[in-house]
Amino acid sequence: GTNKVVDGFKSNLDSNNLENEFLVVETGCHGFCEMGPVAIVYPEGTFYTRVTPEDTEKIVNEHLLKGRIVKELLYSPPQSETKIPSYKEIDFYKKQLRIALRNCGYINPEDIHEYIGKGGYEALGKVLNDMTPQQAVEEMKKSGLRGRGGGGFPTGLKWEFASKSESDKKYIICNADEGDPGAFMDRSILEGDPHSLIEGMIIAGYAIGADEGYVYVRAEYPLAIRRLRTAINQAEEFGLLGDDLLGSGFSFKLQIKEGAGAFVCGEETALMASIEGKRGMPRPRPPFPAVRGLWDKPSNINNVETFANVPVIYEKGADWFASIGTEKSKGTKVFALTGKINNTGLAEVPMGISLREIIYDIGGGVTDNKKFKAVQIGGPSGGCIPEELLDLPVDYDSLIDAGAMMGSGGLVVMDESTCMVDLAKFFLNFTQSESCGKCTPCREGTKRMLEILERITEGEGKEGDIELLEEVGESIKLTSLCGLGQTAPNPILSTLQYFRHEYEAHIKDKR
Ligand code: SF4
Repeated sequence: GTNKVVDGFKSNLDSNNLENEFLVVETGCHGFCEMGPVAIVYPEGTFYTRVTPEDTEKIVNEHLLKGRIVKELLYSPPQSETKIPSYKEIDFYKKQLRIALRNCGYINPEDIHEYIGKGGYEALGKVLNDMTPQQAVEEMKKSGLRGRGGGGFPTGLKWEFASKSESDKKYIICNADEGDPGAFMDRSILEGDPHSLIEGMIIAGYAIGADEGYVYVRAEYPLAIRRLRTAINQAEEFGLLGDDLLGSGFSFKLQIKEGAGAFVCGEETALMASIEGKRGMPRPRPPFPAVRGLWDKPSNINNVETFANVPVIYEKGADWFASIGTEKSKGTKVFALTGKINNTGLAEVPMGISLREIIYDIGGGVTDNKKFKAVQIGGPSGGCIPEELLDLPVDYDSLIDAGAMMGSGGLVVMDESTCMVDLAKFFLNFTQSESCGKCTPCREGTKRMLEILERITEGEGKEGDIELLEEVGESIKLTSLCGLGQTAPNPILSTLQYFRHEYEAHIKDKR
């Protein structure tokens, strides 16, 4: 409904002859999806929620003309008559630290001037003028940034591998496939701040010696594609893409490749095969993409959120970035809060924050005052974390130790009414359907696991089924060719670890 709200503000400003006094800026998502559409009045930062086209008249007449707050549209009742809190003081935002999402919900993503006005492309100027490619790689290594798309591989190390590969041609690729159900942070960055991705990719290109880049974005994201295309055109007009960028002698061009929605195309080698026009199937590694990637040339792939962090690291320095987060997980992570949680939306938090803080302080707790049961973290290949681990610090290594993974940052909250066996079956059903079928353990193993889960949930479970699930699951993890198969059993294995009694109850009840 946002377009109608925008129209409402514009016509109410017009009818009061205020069109030159106030600027209506249409932005990307501000993260607090539960309360959308939101409208923020600056400079106060007054945060109006669930705004309808009819509400715009009141906001213009009361707030803009008379300086009186429209209290019924505020997220929470004001504690004081004299001071209305800025949105930054609202619970949902208080514990957030927005680096990758710094401009989302603040600037007009279709106007390059607004990105530049917020310091955009300064980092690129700094890198091109003051750093050699090797220094740029070293700075990235020093920052400690790890890939935000799933595996958490150190970004600087990845760049170093690609930079050391000798070749007449190299590529930078952005994985904007975002196939995890429930994850939408990459879409939000593309829709809300596409230039941060472009700037990050150009810097990466300079660091590894690539002069061409691709953004592989799913075709189901039409607004993201439109805004990215607009941003690329504007960057070209401003001489920020093309030949001899900012007089440095470095050239870089960027194009978009639309993906057809296969989950496996989030895997690096499958993604590159898809760009080449082949069926998106993974291939064994080595050779790694840094040695032989797209069109057999050295290539580097990072995801949208990773690239969105890049300009800030060069603008503020690697030491600044490395001072945020934990010893081995630096910076922030964006999580998509969904499921039985009050405040659904996108939250960017420093690494090391606890799950409890994310779910209760930012997420507002479980809906309908029900009891928390578990949180599924890391997308369909992630694991389920029970209540006793809610104080776990959120970082790459702690989550893996607990049987889950950071993944792309999907965070699905379950309440006491959720059957964990059904949940595990739901996620396995997804990965099983998305298995590309190339290797036997994943193709056959996930099918067999699903069959066992189906008979358990249909009251036909047998003695030994649980052990069989564990045995097959461990084998699939060990022997599958790509990350999809290697992680597909995680929801089953983690629910077996923490909620085994529910599987046992299903089997026992039948007897
Ligand atoms: Fe395909 Fe699954 Fe094997 Fe990956 S693990 S190559 S998705 S069959």
